[in-house]
Order: sequence, then structure tokens, then C-alpha cells
Amino acid sequence: MSCLFCKIIEKKILAKIIYEDEQVIAFEDINPQAPVHTLIIPRKHISTSLEIKQEDNALIGHMFQVANTIATNKNVAEKGFRLVMNCNRESGQTVFHIHLHLLAGRAMHWPPG
Ligand code: 5GP
Ligand code: ZN
Repeated sequence: MSCLFCKIIEKKILAKIIYEDEQVIAFEDINPQAPVHTLIIPRKHISTSLEIKQEDNALIGHMFQVANTIATNKNVAEKGFRLVMNCNRESGQTVFHIHLHLLAGRAMHWPPG
């Protein structure tokens, strides 16, 4: 499997992992776009959000629960944070293993660029 994030899960590529359980791992983005920029990914390889199946519903819900826990632990939950999942190229998706971006620590703009 040539997927970059699968390699991070397998620990073949180093990342600053801040949380892991049997379903997901979370690690710091290598090129942070905000003071807090963490990626939450499923251990299961799902290439884009278009590939999410009904059987993945609990897994996707768990990704959001983990994001909430990390936001709380990093003390950004009350002020606010942004969760983003890009899908396909025009959105800016560059790694084709789904990931939830947790962005916080500065004011976010809307509409996004
Ligand atoms: P996307 O553009 O697909 O939504 O997000 C991919 C994210 O993965 C980007 O924010 C990028 O900085 C991050 N990223 C790419 N390669 C690596 C890597 O090797 N390690 C880590 N920690 N993050 C990466
Ligand atoms: Zn993968």
C-alpha cells in the first residue's frame, strides 16, 4: 500500500501522534495552517469521503468524538475550532486517505479560501 497515511498508521513514516485507539489515530499536521492543526484519520483506508459506506457510520462518528476530545484537551473547544474534510482535487485534497483537519488557535475566515 503506497498510501502516506497508511504508512503513518504502520509507523513506517514518523509523525507526532497525539492520540490512537483501535479505530483512529490523530497526529500533528506537518505544515500547520493554524496554531492547532491536528489530523484525525481512521485506521481503515478510505480514499475520499465519497467512499464512506453505511458500515463506516460509527467510525466517522468516532472521528468527530476524538476531535472533540482533542479540542477540549488543547483548550480550544470553548473559543472555537474548525473541522474540515476535503474531498477530491478542487477542494484541495492532496492525501487520498480521509482525514479530519482540526484547526484552531486563531480566528477563522468565512468563506474559506
Ligand atoms: P488535504 O490537503 O489532503 O486535505 O490535507 C493533507 C494534509 O496532510 C495537509 O495539511 C498536509 O500538510 C498534511 N501532510 C502531508 N504529508 C504529511 C506528512 O508526511 N506528515 C504529516 N504529519 N502531515 C502531512
Ligand atoms: Zn491509506
